[in-house]
Amino acid sequence: MTDTQSYESSIDAASVDSWHSETDVLIVGGGGAGICAAIEAADAGARVTVLEAASEAGGSTAMAGGLIYMGGGTPTQQACGFDDDIEEMHKYLMLASGPNADPAKVRLYCDRTLEHYDWLTGQGVQFKPEYYPHKHTNTPNEAALMITGNEEAWPYSEASKAAPRGHKPQIKGDHGGIPLMENLLRSAREKGVQILCEARALTAIKSGDEVVGIAARIDMQVQYIRAHRGVVLAGGGFIMNREMLETYAPRLALGNYPNGNPNDTGDGIRIGMAAGGMAINMDEGFICTPFYPPHQFLEAIIVDETGMRFINEDVYHGRLGSAILDRPDGRYYLIIDSRHFEVLESPPMGGYPVAGTGENLEELERELDLPPGALTRTLDTYNRHASNGEDPVCHKHEKYLTPLDRPPYAAFDLTPGNGAIFATMTFGGLDTQPTGEVLDKNRSVIPGLYAAGRNSAGLPRCAEGYSSGMSIGDATFFGRLAGLSAASRG
Ligand SMILES: Cc1cc2nc3c(=O)[nH]c(=O)nc-3n(C[C@H](O)[C@H](O)[C@H](O)COP(=O)(O)OP(=O)(O)OC[C@H]3O[C@@H](n4cnc5c(N)ncnc54)[C@H](O)[C@@H]3O)c2cc1C
Repeated sequence: MTDTQSYESSIDAASVDSWHSETDVLIVGGGGAGICAAIEAADAGARVTVLEAASEAGGSTAMAGGLIYMGGGTPTQQACGFDDDIEEMHKYLMLASGPNADPAKVRLYCDRTLEHYDWLTGQGVQFKPEYYPHKHTNTPNEAALMITGNEEAWPYSEASKAAPRGHKPQIKGDHGGIPLMENLLRSAREKGVQILCEARALTAIKSGDEVVGIAARIDMQVQYIRAHRGVVLAGGGFIMNREMLETYAPRLALGNYPNGNPNDTGDGIRIGMAAGGMAINMDEGFICTPFYPPHQFLEAIIVDETGMRFINEDVYHGRLGSAILDRPDGRYYLIIDSRHFEVLESPPMGGYPVAGTGENLEELERELDLPPGALTRTLDTYNRHASNGEDPVCHKHEKYLTPLDRPPYAAFDLTPGNGAIFATMTFGGLDTQPTGEVLDKNRSVIPGLYAAGRNSAGLPRCAEGYSSGMSIGDATFFGRLAGLSAASRG
């Protein structure tokens, strides 16, 4: 086999003269999904080998903020004084997963959220029982708990009772993925899981319909590894693969900040497709433009080139990013008044340049080349209602409704292509059962093949509803199920 054949077709086991090694459960990818699969498979008594293309395991999970979406009254929520309810979490996640939600996965994820919390802490992951009350991309201190999505923002706020459900493993600042993966990897190694680094899976080996192994490049040599019980694909997303992005996810290709590790090239998805698996939801992903922190900017308004608002500005940054990249040719501005100038020592995270300033609204309107009078009308309406704690136009939460009536004014430029960050990652992947079994185009199970994390289409299904923590929550939880299913087979 040559490398150019990799990913495009699977290999017939009959053509394999001899196997270089064998195991029970063979896992492609040593990130969150893969290592959780490995731990569960090892606990079920299987011999487990993980192939990891990088020189260290961890993947995007280790690079991440580490927020994990869990609720229903976790010990951390309770210690911080929050009631939560699994049914409220379920209502929220169904809405957050959007029209392509997988109801069976959402249901199972919610029903077992408390068990998953216990399982993670059982692997040594710690959550400091402290609540961070402001809008932020992550807790800037060691606090574990925060609201990480649209729970308090319209229309989600009307559909379910809000609760903070983002849980960050204990560390100061935005690096919760590190303690998460350190603990998972330690646990996996203690259970005897073999992790081979610089080992790149190339394609699946099949015997008839059944996947029985993987061809991998290890030590510059193609090796055939037999998996007696199953292969779990957990190689992450495809945000680093330009060709796949342009083919499957053109809206994500408009992003200018690929959020992932260099091996987010979709190998596992392509290996699965070549083995007969069906990839779904491939156009969807996360689109983040971080207009907060500072959280005071939620009091600002965001307008487009018509000078009108189009969104409630208290949304999660992914919902705003999605709305903007839905119409990338527009112009977009975040408008603040002098009340906010004091927080400009920490300008919005999103890299936004200043688009204009004005002693009054007319001057700002001219600088931004908006239709004469448009911004003035928008702010007249906004301020009139905001002073009564109302926003009948876009339904922003009243806690952010401060009239913008203190000139001078300034505008940041959120227009794509003008410097604003649009960070993207993919949600599409192999169609799977909640057990991780990979399905073909007829939705029949491919024996011996499993997928989890961003190699599969899991819990996160749409940009406008995504909440931080849904991806690692999905990868760790459904990774576990995939590992257990593979280990339990045959
Ligand atoms: C900066 C950043 C912050 C984030 N913050 C959060 C957050 O707070 N909460 C959240 O839910 N999500 C977050 N995410 C997203 C989240 O981290 C990922 O979506 C999730 O961790 C993916 O898990 P995974 O196991 O599917 O993939 P990964 O963790 O990426 O693991 C995949 C592994 O497979 C390996 N691999 C790839 N191809 C091959 C191959 N051919 N052979 C062998 N190995 C291969 C890769 O090297 C990698 O180690 C963040 C992402 C980034 C980049």
